[in-house]
Amino acid sequence: QLAEARAKSLEPAVTRDGVAMRVLANVADLATTCAAIESGAEGIGLLRTEFLFRTRRDAPTEEEQYASLKEIVEAAAGRHLVVRTLDIGGDKPVPYWKFGREANPLLGQRGIRWCLEQQAMFKTHFRAIFRAASHGPLSVMLPMIASSHEVHLAKQVFVEALSELEKEGLAHDAKIKLGIMVEVPSAVELIEHLLEEVSFVSIGTNDLSQYAMAADRTNAHVASLVDALHPAVLSMVRRVVIAGKAAGRPVCVCGEVAADPLAVPLLVGLGVREVSVSPPAVPRVKEAIRALDVKRAETWAKEACRFDSADEVRHYVEGRLER
Ligand code: PEP
Ligand code: MG
Repeated sequence: QLAEARAKSLEPAVTRDGVAMRVLANVADLATTCAAIESGAEGIGLLRTEFLFRTRRDAPTEEEQYASLKEIVEAAAGRHLVVRTLDIGGDKPVPYWKFGREANPLLGQRGIRWCLEQQAMFKTHFRAIFRAASHGPLSVMLPMIASSHEVHLAKQVFVEALSELEKEGLAHDAKIKLGIMVEVPSAVELIEHLLEEVSFVSIGTNDLSQYAMAADRTNAHVASLVDALHPAVLSMVRRVVIAGKAAGRPVCVCGEVAADPLAVPLLVGLGVREVSVSPPAVPRVKEAIRALDVKRAETWAKEACRFDSADEVRHYVEGRLER
């Protein structure tokens, strides 16, 4: 029976009415990448690169980053991998970098904001990623994007890193695709502009919920406000999916919510065709997809966006699934 369940988890996830979904995994190092492949992930939708920088005394060199990334690309064994550039700061400090005192670190110098201030470090990081991309299919994605201006600035560093590698004759992927995370509410409002700049987007519902509700996801007193099934967040997801379709750009959802059995029907109903979840959740998410009918899920999603609390949405979907 166990062998049967395992075989099933390796098969693609197709809804009852024949719509194929891509189920990918969020990973944070080599071990979790191996776990993701074991659990049946079709690829890696999010590689968090913070592990390269944290738990060290100084910043990693290009060679060190390249060696670690290469191992992960090889472990993915031909499956596509999306590498997110460093998302440091906020609740993820690094001992050897001085961020300065911030009254609101989650609204401070995190992610792309920090990288754009540390151009030399950012370029080295890009170079290591582009070199790792010569060993397997890989794309790169920027976290915490709040405006097109940040994408323009990041692209300058991106282009410089590529042309250096070209000149030096180091193996790399010169056609590597660039995407962004949609996890700041301004990026939702600006999505049409942003889609003109990049090849794909991935919705980070963890941060998007936190910033949409103005509630720190790490603060237990207000964490209950942070629920990606809140209609305010679901509407944002819908907005991005519609824009992505119009622009012909893939839209993935890589926040933790995608692993919630109650969220799966809503995401499918909103038009999401790609999710990325933690490795242990992959088989469960595939099962939830196989039990779905897209036409019905579309009706549920439309209905869910009309409620005004996450509790109502949860209650509603529970009721539908029980039938
Ligand atoms: C997110 O914000 O939803 C996300 C996937 O990124 P992280 O949890 O690493 O901030
Ligand atoms: Mg995030």
